[in-house]
Amino acid sequence: MLRGKNSVITGSTSGIGLGIARALAAQGVNVMLNGFGDKGEIEAIRAGIAQEFAVTARYSPADMSRPPDIAGLIAAAAKELGSVDILVNNAGIQHVASIEDFPAEKWDAIIAINLSAAFHAIRAAVPGMKARKWGRIINTASAHGLVASAQKAGYVAAKHGLVGLTKVVAVETANDGITCNAICPGWVLTPLVEQQIAVRAHAGGRSIEAEKVALLSEKQPMHAFSTPEGIGALAVFLCGDAAATITGASLSIDGGWTAQ
Ligand code: NAD
Repeated sequence: MLRGKNSVITGSTSGIGLGIARALAAQGVNVMLNGFGDKGEIEAIRAGIAQEFAVTARYSPADMSRPPDIAGLIAAAAKELGSVDILVNNAGIQHVASIEDFPAEKWDAIIAINLSAAFHAIRAAVPGMKARKWGRIINTASAHGLVASAQKAGYVAAKHGLVGLTKVVAVETANDGITCNAICPGWVLTPLVEQQIAVRAHAGGRSIEAEKVALLSEKQPMHAFSTPEGIGALAVFLCGDAAATITGASLSIDGGWTAQ
């Protein structure tokens, strides 16, 4: 049912975004990849997806902290793929510090990439979706879109904002064949989290393996990481017919983190 649809997945050179891109491509969805990383590795990812799933796979190096780049990304995808039917706002960064030590430039960068980028991408993509009377917008929020943790002022503020933006877009597009939802993962073992585990392990003098268990058990009743593949499958479900009336929702995939 999704075969031949065209998608943009921001921050898809790694982690959750790559998991979502691969899951969409497996359904026959053409993908515009985006994100940073080694040029050769990104090209290998792009070519691998195109070959494995027989879809068109393109790549844009657009910087999600720069509004002109974001408009350029949506325009390039519309031109090179033919349309933007599915938009996944996933690029994100993290910084951990107490409020009084939180660097202002880190706050600005987190708000720009984790929140404002979704605004810029959605406003650029929605006119085409409305014209075609079909669209799926998925925002990668977080458990931190629903509850707080210490030391994460920028991230928690941005993700709560993203959940709010999701609701507004859902309400505004409710009768245009468009849905807009947020996925709220708990811990997923990606470079973004591996970095936090390494810092904590170093600070506490613990091994990486011990720190993984400590990290999980601090927040999640279920001591297991969610996976990019699981989140990709949820994104595919949200794009399908069965999910046509799910809109404005925040779907937790968090091992019970926010059930408490
Ligand atoms: P990751 O570091 O593996 O991937 C982040 C992606 O965003 C990469 O492709 C990176 O190149 C890209 N990116 C970063 N800054 C960018 C910029 N300025 N412009 C374009 N691309 C940029 O991290 P991840 O864990 O896969 O995170 C993906 C999303 O999932 C983020 O929004 C994150 O907040 C969210 N999330 C992650 C977890 C987790 O436990 N890993 C939990 C909840 C939510």
